[in-house]
Amino acid sequence: MFVLAVDGDMITTQDFDDDSTALRFENADDTAWRCTACGARLIEDGDGVADESGRVECVAYDPDDDPDHDGDTGPEAGEGPHRAERVALSWANSAAIHTDPGEDSITVTISVGDPRGALAFSVRRIPDDADTNAGRLILHTPYPGEPMPHVDLTEDHTGTYWVS
Ligand SMILES: [Zn+2]
Repeated sequence: MFVLAVDGDMITTQDFDDDSTALRFENADDTAWRCTACGARLIEDGDGVADESGRVECVAYDPDDDPDHDGDTGPEAGEGPHRAERVALSWANSAAIHTDPGEDSITVTISVGDPRGALAFSVRRIPDDADTNAGRLILHTPYPGEPMPHVDLTEDHTGTYWVS
């Protein structure tokens, strides 16, 4: 029997007993870059970044906060560039945990490429009536050269891969 807990706190009194359970996190924000000064979502625009209205100057630009500001000739307050910062976790589409009593398995999936697919990591117990390895746990992971991969993987060293 599993109970659902978030950051250590149980969030429901409902027990998850014999049913297959999937817990899924969706990334609801497709913003990859944000301005640390004005907070605007940013899009890449030729030589730099612009906010959603196409404005390349940042209303919150402060020359004193800009290490690249060139004393007398640099932009005035409110007229310099946005300060772009990557949005944490913007590389992920979704993540899920799926417990399956029927397969005696737990699968964790992380989607970073095509949102219809995901990298899947699964631990399953071999049935007790199997001819070999009965009762043992087996781990399946994505690997370089996998047919129909979610994303291409390149091995850095054993157990560690670069995602294409
Ligand atoms: Zn800005």
